[in-house]
Amino acid sequence: MLVSAKDMLNRARDGHYAVGQFNINNLEWTKAILLTAQEMNSPVILGVSEGAGKYMCGYRTVVDMTKGMIDNLKITVPVCIHLDHGSYEAALACIAAGFSSVMFDGSKYPIEENITKTTELVKLTNNLGLSLEAEVGAIGGEEDGTVNMGECADPDECKRIADLGVTMLAAGIGNIHGKYPANWPGLRFDVLAAVKEKTGDMPLVLHGGTGIPADMIREAIRLGVCKINVNTECQISFTAAVRQYIEDGKDLVGKGFDPRKVLAPGVEAIKATVREKIELFGSAGKA
Ligand SMILES: [Zn+2]
Repeated sequence: MLVSAKDMLNRARDGHYAVGQFNINNLEWTKAILLTAQEMNSPVILGVSEGAGKYMCGYRTVVDMTKGMIDNLKITVPVCIHLDHGSYEAALACIAAGFSSVMFDGSKYPIEENITKTTELVKLTNNLGLSLEAEVGAIGGEEDGTVNMGECADPDECKRIADLGVTMLAAGIGNIHGKYPANWPGLRFDVLAAVKEKTGDMPLVLHGGTGIPADMIREAIRLGVCKINVNTECQISFTAAVRQYIEDGKDLVGKGFDPRKVLAPGVEAIKATVREKIELFGSAGKA
């Protein structure tokens, strides 16, 4: 069933686990993630970036496809469709298209403007029963075209945004989108602890979940992270599996060129990655 992220994250906070946000790119991605969440009886968040929304022919197509799949695949676990790193305008468009959750990423604005725009969206999403994620302190790496080196959020600014009544808050704690460089110093647990102390019950979100060592993930969850975003890791495992199929020459045998056959190993690879993350995050059996 399609739901907002509010209940699933509050339960995750109280139960000391995290719910995975897995970004989708197409039908295969969506199907693989939904089936795995159902198989593991886990709540799940489907992340949709503005770029992926455009690629999939618009937000309404994403909503209609997901609803159709939930019905057709008999998915009974809670599923949230969430805009990832949206602009203010994209958040409005996703709300109109039927998303159950949006992220407004105002981290590139001065804090006062971030607060003004976030406040507007709090009112709108609260009225509609949708969830809202806000961001303070840009996440390192590449964020839809913008590259930065990984900031840490100011805990006082986090408190100001949390107090507006958002559902969940993403705070930069040295995390990076994409692959982590070999010399990455690791997550700043001191910053995370300070943010948690200031923001109280607010579910915290960790972006850039690909390649963070398991022990750091567990520590982040212990310190209040309730939602972890995974994107790159599914892309890498999907592409490696499809590459293997082609390199093995399987597309040249019989009807091996059938796109459903070509993409099947990629789908299985996404499932394996999602399964591994759900185990690590502790959300299996929590639907
Ligand atoms: Zn992110």
